[in-house]
Amino acid sequence: MTPVRLLVVGPVREQERARRALGAIAGYATSYALTAPQALELPPHDAYLAFDLATATQLLAGGPRAVLLVDDDPNPETDAAAAEEGVFVTRLDQLERALNHAIAHQNALHKLAESEQRHALAMQGADDGLWDWDVRNERLYFSPRWKSMLGYEEEELGEAPGEWLGRVHPDDRAAVQQAFEAHCSGASDHFEQEYRIQHRDGSYRWMLARGMAVRDGQGHATRVVGSQTDVTGRKEAEQRLQHDAMHDALTGLPNRVLFLDRLDQAIRRAQRATPQAAAAVLFLDLDRFKLVNDSLGHQAGDRLLIAVARRLESAVRPPDTVARLGGDEFTVLLDGVSDAHEASLVAERVHQTLRAPFHIDERELFVDASIGIALADADAAPDTVLRDADVAMYRAKADGKGRQAVFDGRMHQQVMRRLDMETELRRAIDEQRLEVVYQPIVQTATGRIAGFEALCRWPDAASEPAEFVPIAEETGLIVPLGRWVLERATSQLAAWRRTAAGVGLTVGVNVSHRQLADPDFDLALSEALEASRLDPRALRLEVSEHALEHAQRALTQLVATHGVRSHIDDFGTGASSLRLLHGFPGDAVKIHRTLVAGMGREPGAFEIVKALVGLAHSLGLEVVAEGVETATQLEHLELLGCEFAQGFYLSAPLRPEDAATLLEEAALRG
Ligand code: C2E
Ligand code: CA
Ligand code: CA
Repeated sequence: MTPVRLLVVGPVREQERARRALGAIAGYATSYALTAPQALELPPHDAYLAFDLATATQLLAGGPRAVLLVDDDPNPETDAAAAEEGVFVTRLDQLERALNHAIAHQNALHKLAESEQRHALAMQGADDGLWDWDVRNERLYFSPRWKSMLGYEEEELGEAPGEWLGRVHPDDRAAVQQAFEAHCSGASDHFEQEYRIQHRDGSYRWMLARGMAVRDGQGHATRVVGSQTDVTGRKEAEQRLQHDAMHDALTGLPNRVLFLDRLDQAIRRAQRATPQAAAAVLFLDLDRFKLVNDSLGHQAGDRLLIAVARRLESAVRPPDTVARLGGDEFTVLLDGVSDAHEASLVAERVHQTLRAPFHIDERELFVDASIGIALADADAAPDTVLRDADVAMYRAKADGKGRQAVFDGRMHQQVMRRLDMETELRRAIDEQRLEVVYQPIVQTATGRIAGFEALCRWPDAASEPAEFVPIAEETGLIVPLGRWVLERATSQLAAWRRTAAGVGLTVGVNVSHRQLADPDFDLALSEALEASRLDPRALRLEVSEHALEHAQRALTQLVATHGVRSHIDDFGTGASSLRLLHGFPGDAVKIHRTLVAGMGREPGAFEIVKALVGLAHSLGLEVVAEGVETATQLEHLELLGCEFAQGFYLSAPLRPEDAATLLEEAALRG
């Protein structure tokens, strides 16, 4: 460390006293001068020692510097006079401490001068207000700009710290005070804080204050000087961004992120409380929303969602959170509800609220929702609770529209089984471990086998098509599965048709709406027909009424380009309107087995089948009856003029080799 350069100024006698006192102190390079004018001739020193006030004052006049006055018998009067001039008074035996103090003070002033210059530079054009806090006297100087930022004139604000802190938003005040105190105590190297402060007009503005302390020899802050910048614009933009990230743009409701956060908070609160009632979650999915969207357009759909959001908000208590997860899915967080019954009452209230008609675009719309309920206890994971509520919602939907269901563990197992099945099924398709069986379709009048329906089997799994086909449809696996069945069935039938026993046989292949919607299905069909060299007219694409609603055009196109035929499957169970039937490009309907099964058992079933057969015939379509299990049913169908029949009474679905045997036997008999 370079030694402190000290200049002792005074008569030789005093110089001697100083020399003796300084002898005990290390770290000083001392020079001597007799008078102030002599001293000022010399280059500047770090500190000056004088023995009378007049000399001290003269030395100070030479520029800002640390000047000490040695006075072994101080009295208040000289002290005050010296302080006025900025001179430190000390006894000779306390010289070391006084020197340290004076030099430190000098350095602080120097730094302040520098930082004030910096500030002055920063301030030019920066539109900031300035403040200067005299910590010891609790007085604050505010620049005119500081005051005008808050809407006040120069003389309207005093110098009390309350003029500032008293206007800071109550929520921000403690933080400002803490930051200020932390800096004053030396815990931070500068003061910086954002806060809201009340403008004269009553509104709050966001400000950023920065400042730096001037310290005394002990490191205590004597002044803190700084600026204040209006950051309202940036702060509002930040808050808007943050709001947008947490809310759904359409309805303004909290989104999934915010919902999970609130749920998390509820769970955490429950961990600290007794009893540990955390929350219940309702998961809502609107029934038939897609219909509104498809038929009235997206704008109407959007308006409906907004109206639903408002109704949901009105159906819950203020502390509860209503959120929109996307699409027509909403969630409600019932804070502090730990009882399924209570949650279920709220769900019922939500149902009630939604039941009143909505008025959208001068139309009355009726909406209902399926609601799943899950309870969160104090150690639940938020996303698990949400998923459970989702699973329960699916159960509610499966039970029928407008229902509610409470989650239980078995539902989770079912979901897991479904997931496992999906994985297994994917593998089974890849590894060609599925099989196709063939169920004979018989001409009612003659008993002759007219053809077969190809039905898929999954021998490794204890799963019927009624279970795995819907999963395949949901996951899209139906596309590769269907393609594989199509290839198998066409080549099998082509092979049989080449034998004497199989001449003229037809084959029905089930085609799901997902396949019809797949742009590659057209190609798959060409390839199957080409590879098998099956006469296209022998192939019947079996399409359900439901699929027909969505894919009439695609089907018409396929029939026209490939020359294949098509049948309406499960006829009589869906909502097939005459309009659909009228445009149907195929040549037969298959009456669903439940209707056939009712014949002879349920009153009216015979009449329904009769009417359906009559309807089909009037449109020039043939009729295949499915699920024929008894001789009586077959007789009735024959009576009604139903051309073809299929069912266990005639034959169960057969493995290819068994079907071939059956064909040969029939040929021998025939
Ligand atoms: P579906 O097209 O209506 O097929 C007829 C179903 O009725 C078959 O069930 C058949 O075994 C069954 N059945 C036949 N005769 C009788 C009877 O006398 N009584 C009763 N109760 N049932 C009878 P399966 O094979 O379990 O297929 C169920 C459904 O799975 C099919 O209904 C079809 O929608 C779908 N499916 C099966 N294989 C395929 C496929 O390869 N592709 C597609 N997309 N769907 C398939
Ligand atoms: Ca079928
Ligand atoms: Ca059917």
